[in-house]
Amino acid sequence: MEIIRFQLGSLRSNCYIISEENRALIIDPGYESDEVLKYIKKNELKIEAIYLTHGHPDHVGGVKQIKDLFECVVYAPHKDRIWMGKSSYNQIGYEIPVDVWVHDLETFEALGHVFTIYETPGHSEGSTVLHVNNIVFSGDTLFFQSIGRTDIPLSDPQVIYQSIKRMYQLFDEDTLVYPGHGKPTDIGHEKKFNPFVRG
Ligand SMILES: [Zn+2]
Repeated sequence: MEIIRFQLGSLRSNCYIISEENRALIIDPGYESDEVLKYIKKNELKIEAIYLTHGHPDHVGGVKQIKDLFECVVYAPHKDRIWMGKSSYNQIGYEIPVDVWVHDLETFEALGHVFTIYETPGHSEGSTVLHVNNIVFSGDTLFFQSIGRTDIPLSDPQVIYQSIKRMYQLFDEDTLVYPGHGKPTDIGHEKKFNPFVRG
């Protein structure tokens, strides 16, 4: 399984392309990006799915372009629907074309692997992390020695604290963490060194 990270837009949101031979899954395409499209075409990737860790605009803004070009299934957390549907919270200007609204502990299959969704609210009401093998894509919940912002509408610092505690219980220390912003880390490192939530 190969993972490549693109840092997109003014907020440098991480968009990941996970591939297995030419089958691929995209996580959080936050902005329309020529760089991402070029990579897909150059490697002749078959995009099977897009997964959105949460509904904020800097994580969902590139979904429609990729879906229109490559016809893939889009998964997104139901509890963050307000950011992606018809609502004053939607800053994209159109409804994000989500096919499957997901919930805690649901799974889906892509690239021959089973991906599991865990709800980790706090940064947003519907924030999730996505687990596969020994890897967790942590969205804007857990960062390298930091955590997601909780000073924005519908966020809650007490709730994100509990969500990160849950992550520390769910995942082994050697689980790799690929966050929504900044560089990768692992659960063991964050348990020891995260200044906001220790394990
Ligand atoms: Zn966010």
